[in-house]
Amino acid sequence: MFFNHSYAKDLQDLVSPVKVAPLFNAKLRLFNKTLAQEIKFPEHLHQPESLISALFNPQSELNRHSIAQKYGGHQFGSWNPELGDGRGLLLAELRTSESRNVDLHLKGAGKTPYSRFGDGRAVLRSTIREYLASEALHHLGIPTSRALCLISSQEPVYREKQEHGAMLIRTCQSHLRFGHFEYFYHSKQPEKLEKLFQYTLANHFPQCLEQKNAHQAMLSQIVNDTADLVAKWQSFGFCHGVMNTDNMSIHGITFDFGPYAFLDNFEPGYICNHSDHQGRYAFDQQPGVALWNLNALAHAFTPYMSIDEIKETLGEYEPRLTEQYAKLMRKKLGLQQEKQADMTLVNQWLSLLENDKRDYTASFRLLSQANLSQQDVIDHFIGREAAGTWFKQYSRRLELETQSCEQRAMLMRAANPKYVLRNYLAQIAIDRAEEGNFAECERLLTVLQSPFEEQLEHQAYAKTPPDWGQSMEISCSS
Ligand code: AMP
Ligand code: MG
Repeated sequence: MFFNHSYAKDLQDLVSPVKVAPLFNAKLRLFNKTLAQEIKFPEHLHQPESLISALFNPQSELNRHSIAQKYGGHQFGSWNPELGDGRGLLLAELRTSESRNVDLHLKGAGKTPYSRFGDGRAVLRSTIREYLASEALHHLGIPTSRALCLISSQEPVYREKQEHGAMLIRTCQSHLRFGHFEYFYHSKQPEKLEKLFQYTLANHFPQCLEQKNAHQAMLSQIVNDTADLVAKWQSFGFCHGVMNTDNMSIHGITFDFGPYAFLDNFEPGYICNHSDHQGRYAFDQQPGVALWNLNALAHAFTPYMSIDEIKETLGEYEPRLTEQYAKLMRKKLGLQQEKQADMTLVNQWLSLLENDKRDYTASFRLLSQANLSQQDVIDHFIGREAAGTWFKQYSRRLELETQSCEQRAMLMRAANPKYVLRNYLAQIAIDRAEEGNFAECERLLTVLQSPFEEQLEHQAYAKTPPDWGQSMEISCSS
């Protein structure tokens, strides 16, 4: 037996058994061999034909117990109890070690009882975006779900225009979202909520069971993991785009990719989701929204914790986030010592970038060279005087450091990526793939797998966006 089905079996009355609806003329286009080996995905399913036939055979070991999970969620601040896996199925789980579970979830698998008005499908464009982003984030060291494989098809799927259906197998510790717990709390089903908590504690937070209050320990873990995640998003300039509570993982990983973006020019209020008219999920709102979401999740913990305990636990978020963010930003500037004024220096640098609309990633990378001169920095900006003043302060601060310039530059290059998944790069890869050519996807994946390396042969991928790629409107439809 390769596969487990603990969620399907232990939580039978929280799920709906659903079979995969095959796609017409399905082809395996991307397969993440490294990940497959890491999670011990059975060797005989590494072959395209055997994988697709296992996926589409309702009796295969892989999907014999496929289920759709029920959850709800706060979408743009409003509670929606009607959500659930509307187009994704949990196929099976892999236990890679005693303490490590890996979910195999098929996105785009067809209609389920939670599809509402949707067709249960995902399009090639959005599955490629998810595949690329999860690999990009993973290799930057940002916790995320990961893509195991991508399947294209000739099945017509209608969004703003006709596109083609595709599927993606997504992996992560579990697909448990804030919205799972919120749903069973708000729908007043305490027995089911209790079962869900017991399952989650036993399978995913066993260390919390050793604590006096297991639920409080679990909430605390989620609060701290979420703070760490958001600190990373902010420091790498990543914008999630749809931080609804149904898109928030209890494991503190980046989850459910939609119209995300890595910042090009540094614009704190950048909104990457063009349906987000109020900017609720703008880049600089993410830290606050994550806390709002944790607060929403905490309601589900009220049967197990006093209000004071909940307040105390949620109170761990802000100091943790501030501490982690400062740590990451200090690293980006090459500051190993901790000095009080460091964040002022960071913020002044960010103001320079904002005022002159400079590229977030490229500007930090510029600082990461051993022989950086005042002229290099001044020439990077329009506001030359302000840049010169900042550089003088930065140089004085660097004098307090003990490592050599070369050492510092090396460490800074390991904290400041040269390559990030800019939306225009993803779009080029998608355009080619829609013509049936996945070579550009493969090439881009190779680049994103070593984001901190110079990769002389791939310099073009470090370029800031051309005119057409500057303010791309990424559709929410997927
Ligand atoms: P998302 O915007 O992808 O996070 O999805 C929000 C909710 O809508 C979830 O309950 C999804 O399962 C559901 N959903 C999204 N797209 C579709 C679709 N094409 N068909 C059915 N349900 C969908
Ligand atoms: Mg979602």
